[in-house]
Amino acid sequence: MTIEASPGVSGVSPDVLAAWVAAQGEPGFRARQVADAIWKDGGVTDAAAIRTLPAALRDALATDFRLDTVEDSEIRLGDDGQTEKALHRLADGQLIESVLMHYPARAGSRERHTLCISSQAGCAVGCPFCATGELGFGRDLEVAEIVDQVRHAARRLAADGKRLTNIVFMGMGEPLLNLDRVLAAVEALNDPLRFGLGARHITVSTSGVVPGIRRLTALGPQFTLAVSLHAARDALRDVLVPLNRRWPVAEVVAAAREHSVATGRRISYEVTMIAGVNDTPEDAEALADLLRGDHAHVNLIPMNPVAHTPWTASPMPVIESIAATLRDAGIQTTIRRNRGQEVGAACGQLAAERAGEPPAPAVARRRERLVTASAAALRGERSEEPMPAGVGE
Ligand code: SAH
Ligand code: SF4
Repeated sequence: MTIEASPGVSGVSPDVLAAWVAAQGEPGFRARQVADAIWKDGGVTDAAAIRTLPAALRDALATDFRLDTVEDSEIRLGDDGQTEKALHRLADGQLIESVLMHYPARAGSRERHTLCISSQAGCAVGCPFCATGELGFGRDLEVAEIVDQVRHAARRLAADGKRLTNIVFMGMGEPLLNLDRVLAAVEALNDPLRFGLGARHITVSTSGVVPGIRRLTALGPQFTLAVSLHAARDALRDVLVPLNRRWPVAEVVAAAREHSVATGRRISYEVTMIAGVNDTPEDAEALADLLRGDHAHVNLIPMNPVAHTPWTASPMPVIESIAATLRDAGIQTTIRRNRGQEVGAACGQLAAERAGEPPAPAVARRRERLVTASAAALRGERSEEPMPAGVGE
């Protein structure tokens, strides 16, 4: 365990829970009662509330496990209440965020409630347009810390008689650099006897950790795989996704293509559109060439404003013309309008508040370095910068 505390009960596998119940001298059906109490409508956060259990078992449960790994949460509303950003404090003081987005029913589609969750506190990959990347790496989340974000949202929804319909791992962190725990979390979310959300309603987004993608391919379909592409040319992708210096874009797309062929599932590609950086006609052509003929879907996402970057979103007509180039190449493309900007809660834009802002000269140097690096990349020069620490080993 990374943290010195009893295990979060929602991260414990059914086998382990059953063995624990047996060790308490209780019959097997008690394990089912515990699981129901943890998972139904987001579940309880206090063992004392599980009235179906004998008092001694409730006490033992409270002693051996934490019923909730989220110690405290603060909710901020945006988009007239359609977006809810939750800032969660964990046992060791780490702050993580999740975002709940409500989409009303429309012709041909039912109402949806999508939760964007974090897999790590901070992120080591360090994409310069991403607020989490700017934070640096805190630590991997435990399985329970991942699923307790979901239970928190499920409880809030249940209070209104609603249920979560989709989960996306697009919050803080790189899920494929915490893959064992992400897989265990997805298993719990998927299990009909636990959270019970179908694999098709779960999406995991990666910045391109090739060994992780290959491991997923060997496991068979687990969820929808999304790949954060951002640029089809290595020189530019080196700057936008520093992991590209370890696993270049052609390798990432080849691994994703193999995944799609092996699992029969479409790959989602995300491209954050940054004005004057990755939105030129050459970029659109390179993207079309890279993905032509693939079972793929491209999401073009206007960049959300993030402090400390010199960049802004591409204008909508530019994004539309890139979409047209991709569609002409036979690639399914949508333009995604991001939610929750005014509360800093756009999915993928999460960075828990921390003490103090970096000093102005450091911000200025960072901006200058990014302008120089992206200009060099646009001339086709590859970055000489080292890989960020902690990734790509
Ligand atoms: N680390 C994973 C998942 C979390 S980021 C990954 O990178 O895929 C989720 C998505 O949000 C990614 O596609 C990421 O590129 C995108 N994103 C990050 N910062 C953004 C910003 N400022 N504007 C728009 N999208 C952003
Ligand atoms: Fe990490 Fe994803 Fe942000 Fe890149 S975009 S820094 S991989 S969270």
